[in-house]
Amino acid sequence: MPPKTAISPTRADDYPEWYQQVIRAADLAENSPVRGCMVIKPWGYQLWENIQRALDDMFKATGHQNAYFPLFIPMSFLEKEAEHVEGFAKECAVVTHHRLEPDPNGGLRPAGKLEEPLIVRPTSETIIGATYAKWVQSYRDLPILINQWANVVRWEMRTRMFLRTAEFLWQEGHTVHATAEEAISETEQMVEVYRDFAENWMAMPVIVGSKTPLERFPGAVETLSIEAMMQDRKALQAGTSHFLGQNFSKAQEIKFQSVTGDIEYAWTTSWGVSTRLIGALIMTHSDDDGLVLPPRLAPSHVVIQPIYKDDSRAEVMAYVESLRDELAAQTFAGAPVRVVIDDRDIRGGEKKWYHVKRGVPIRLEVGPKDMAADSVFCGIRNQPKSVGVSRQEIVATIGEKLATLQQELFDAALLLRESNTVTIKNEADFRDYFASTDDDKIQGGFAHCHFADEDSLQPLLKELKVTIRCIPREHNTTPGTCFLTGKPAAKMAVFAKAY
Ligand code: AMP
Repeated sequence: MPPKTAISPTRADDYPEWYQQVIRAADLAENSPVRGCMVIKPWGYQLWENIQRALDDMFKATGHQNAYFPLFIPMSFLEKEAEHVEGFAKECAVVTHHRLEPDPNGGLRPAGKLEEPLIVRPTSETIIGATYAKWVQSYRDLPILINQWANVVRWEMRTRMFLRTAEFLWQEGHTVHATAEEAISETEQMVEVYRDFAENWMAMPVIVGSKTPLERFPGAVETLSIEAMMQDRKALQAGTSHFLGQNFSKAQEIKFQSVTGDIEYAWTTSWGVSTRLIGALIMTHSDDDGLVLPPRLAPSHVVIQPIYKDDSRAEVMAYVESLRDELAAQTFAGAPVRVVIDDRDIRGGEKKWYHVKRGVPIRLEVGPKDMAADSVFCGIRNQPKSVGVSRQEIVATIGEKLATLQQELFDAALLLRESNTVTIKNEADFRDYFASTDDDKIQGGFAHCHFADEDSLQPLLKELKVTIRCIPREHNTTPGTCFLTGKPAAKMAVFAKAY
């Protein structure tokens, strides 16, 4: 008999269903009555707030400020950039009326038709660009370095909680520069911020690279992304940073007078990460007992579970309260350790599993016997067994234990990626590696392949449901031959099945 797990099915049995069950067991979010839109519950939202806080600090440290722009975009704005409208037209929510009136057949009906339909923003390049056109006159007005925290709507057909929802929360940075070089260096700086956040906060190793033309953001000259491997070995695009060239500034008339007095079009960028990061975090670290949180983002680092009978309650509570205060005075990654006491009146076993499933990094149980020995029973989320530790030691080492867990999660994720990455040089091996077309089966991984031209690969990639993730920044630049056509190939890319 395999050991009993808190989550059923297990990852090996049914990965997609396991993912849904982890979200449910950890109480992160649930489906809403609105198709493709989710309710983010307090534990999930605290996680998002921690993600926001860390990223926001990083954006500010690189010179950006926050601002806010409208939810609605006039349809004509979207029409201005041809590729952009083509890319987003298929998934737009359109507002055509501005009030409701009684329907003679019962109920209500929309009334007050708008002269121009409004699009619920799928992304804000066009509305923000129109605003920037007014703000920018001279080179002295540049650069503009602004970020917006917002919700956006993309009418996605196949949705999955956090990973792909119709409405999602995100940040979108939109910057304007006087030169192409400056805009390119902004694009690179921001993908590096995302890499830093993914690796050092989420404990999720990522590959930084550029997207091929077919995979680029609609209207971008260059899209850089961070790509991570999930535990089912599929890739997830976790963040993107776009160099938009002068495409949007020409469409939007963002012009300025240069130092030499010439009128020039500006150079723009945009970059974003979304609530998809929570999906990425779940799929990178969680196990068959539920959510596993990297300590730096965990809403609570430590939960203390007092164990008492009625007559020992006061004594045990006094002890755990002083323990909490001592632990909270310690630091981890430069911030105070976040400690909570859970003294709800529920069975000890049930309480333990409640916190295991929610991914709390460290659990401490304290009962009269532990108190007498001045020790605690300590469970670390990635360790199979709890162990007794003296009170003095747990206080002295709490920061270190959290740091070790953070590092171990990163190391495990990196090991998974490295042991599931191959180099492939011919079609037969490629077919073999990505053989199964069953989306939900764990197989394959990342394949590094030289390729000559993206278009000629499309039939094979479509057949096998494989995509080009990116041309990694740190890639082997030795020329090779295309794995499919045998033609000389200057570039290699990471190929994978993807979310
Ligand atoms: P984009 O504007 O398409 O470059 O996307 C910016 C960020 O949002 C990327 O990190 C995407 O992975 C993420 N994203 C795109 N579509 C969705 C969606 N439907 N749900 C959640 N996140 C998304």
